[in-house]
Amino acid sequence: PTVFIIHVSKGDSMSEANECLFCKIIAGEIPSNTVFEDDSTIAFSDIHPKAKVHVLIVPKKHYATVAELAQRDPSELSHMVGIAKSIADKEFHGAYRLIFNTGEDAGQSVFHVHAHVLTGEVLAE
Ligand code: 5GP
Repeated sequence: PTVFIIHVSKGDSMSEANECLFCKIIAGEIPSNTVFEDDSTIAFSDIHPKAKVHVLIVPKKHYATVAELAQRDPSELSHMVGIAKSIADKEFHGAYRLIFNTGEDAGQSVFHVHAHVLTGEVLAE
C-alpha cells in the first residue's frame, strides 16, 4: 500500500497575526505609537499608561512569556533590557521600572511577551 506522510506545521497557535494583538501591531495591522524599532524588536506606548511614560517592549517573534523567552532566546531578553535603559536614559536620567506580568493571575492579558517600562516621573511605591 502507498503511505502518504503529511507534514502538518505545528507552529504556535497564537503566533499568527490574525490571532495575537501584538503580532497585529508588529505587522502594522493595528496602529501604535512606535518609539523604537529594529529587526527583532518593537517598542510602543501603552494605550492605558500607568506612568508619565509607559512603553511596551515587544520581541517581533512570538513567545508567550518571559520564561519562554529566557529559555529560547536569551539574547533577545538582554536586548530588551538595553532598550529599556536607553528609553529611560532619554526620558528620566536612567530611572525606570521594568515589569513582566506572567500568567493571568499576575495580570498578564496579552500572551505575547512584553516588558512594561515605567519612567518619566518619580515612582512612589
Ligand atoms: P499585560 O496586562 O499583558 O501585562 O499588558 C498588556 C498591556 O497592553 C496593557 O497594559 C494594555 O493597556 C496594553 N494594550 C492592550 N491593548 C493595546 C493596544 O491595542 N495598543 C497598545 N498600545 N497597548 C495595548
